[in-house]
Amino acid sequence: MLAAAMTAPERIEPRTFELPLAEAFVIVTLDGVRWREIFEGTDADLAAPAEVPRKSAAALMPTLSRWMTADGASIGAPGRAEISASGPNFVSLPGYFEIFSGRSPSACQSNSCGDIAEATLFDDVDAQYSGEPVAVVSSWEAIAHAASGNPASHMLLSTGRVRSRGLPAAWLAEASNANPWPGGGEYRPDALTGPIALRVLQAAQPKAMFIGLGDTDEYAHHGDYAGYLRALESADAFLSRLETTLAAMGERGARTAVFVTCDHGRSSGFKDHGGAWAESARVWLVAHGSGIGARGAVDAGRPVRLADIAATARELIGASPDTDARAGRPIEALLP
Ligand SMILES: [Zn+2]
Repeated sequence: MLAAAMTAPERIEPRTFELPLAEAFVIVTLDGVRWREIFEGTDADLAAPAEVPRKSAAALMPTLSRWMTADGASIGAPGRAEISASGPNFVSLPGYFEIFSGRSPSACQSNSCGDIAEATLFDDVDAQYSGEPVAVVSSWEAIAHAASGNPASHMLLSTGRVRSRGLPAAWLAEASNANPWPGGGEYRPDALTGPIALRVLQAAQPKAMFIGLGDTDEYAHHGDYAGYLRALESADAFLSRLETTLAAMGERGARTAVFVTCDHGRSSGFKDHGGAWAESARVWLVAHGSGIGARGAVDAGRPVRLADIAATARELIGASPDTDARAGRPIEALLP
């Protein structure tokens, strides 16, 4: 008789705690991208005059499409409960305030409302997990106003071409003198923002990371549908590199959840967005990675708002919920 067969079966200890669904999260925003292209591909009415070929969503954005079907879930697909920016002025900074604070309505109702005056999701993660970095990297410089309500914050930050904190100057040097097109002022094109973001992700392995791409909205304001579509395809290529980067980060990468969303939608005429165009409230959300099931187009069973993303991210990593009356609610349909 083998000794092993003689021993009593190993006693299985009851679990005294449950692991959080994820260890870390990344929120990626694609500024001003409409739900139409995300779920339906190129718009026939705009594609013909712009002389661009019709493409399905899967052909236009293969990585994001896979994340919203076989490798994740989406909120806001046609025929499902919608997700909206709370507005009522559907412009960028109010949208980013809602995403970062996880609260609505927001006191910020323009792109010149200054610094956020309350602790953000990223401030709370920074405070609750001391020693674990949080990071914000974006093409649009003004996202710095939404990222942190803590004037003494030491979050890693690089927004636009010149605003930064805590990152090696050599990483930012090439982009600092770049042509801001398709944006202006301190804007940094996505092609330069993306590599910096991935470098920060790999080197710092942040507990919470925000990556803001913006070329889509810039091209849309120029009325350039072909440019908007090229920016979307580039954004999808960035998501593919993000996936590769996370895969190279071992257990930490495997235990990271990713959200992809936007700050506002667009007018039915495509070029504009804001309070005058109620339809520009409608946005979309794709979730992928640790803790997110492969559920495809999910019906949340209630109207979802951008503020709910922060509440969902808190629940995924096991952070304390925000008990403020304006706080969003976790999107249960995305969670196990
Ligand atoms: Zn815009």
